[in-house]
Amino acid sequence: MTIALYPGSFDPVTKGHIDIAERAASLFEEVIVAVYDAPPKDLLFTTKERVELVRKSLSHLPNVRVEPYTGLTVDFAEKVKAKVLVRGLRIFSDFEREFEMALMNKQLAPCLELVCFMTSQDYQFVSSSLLKEVCRLGGHIEDFVPEDVARALRKKLCH
Ligand code: ADP
Repeated sequence: MTIALYPGSFDPVTKGHIDIAERAASLFEEVIVAVYDAPPKDLLFTTKERVELVRKSLSHLPNVRVEPYTGLTVDFAEKVKAKVLVRGLRIFSDFEREFEMALMNKQLAPCLELVCFMTSQDYQFVSSSLLKEVCRLGGHIEDFVPEDVARALRKKLCH
């Protein structure tokens, strides 16, 4: 049985993330979506809130579970016995960063394989940071996040 780990900040989860998780869930027996507690960026949502929103958004996938984690992704992968790391690729800048991280992770954990999913066309421009900006400025975000997430974003950003 192959366990895949899909790590990220998910601040908040978007339909782009959900699409990657659904596709990973159709390929691997078990997918663990791992919410990193301290990414090197300003967060809008707490770890608990991010985990909660991801759980609600992926509750239709029986072979997916959502866990917070701290420390190195490769250490968490070893802890949960994941053999595969899942990431999504949007634009060229994603590739550069993912490539760099993949090489480092290979040094740290040679047995862990990386599987990258190309973004679906509908979500190629969707990022948590852009959606936060659009929401803050009063724009329509409902097409790119589930209703629960849209509500949580509006509550945080639109008073
Ligand atoms: P991180 O801070 O680890 O990049 P993110 O939550 O921003 O966390 O992204 C987690 C993963 O999901 C990354 O591999 C990212 O490239 C991927 N991802 C985010 N948005 C999309 C999208 N719209 N389409 C495909 N992949 C995406």
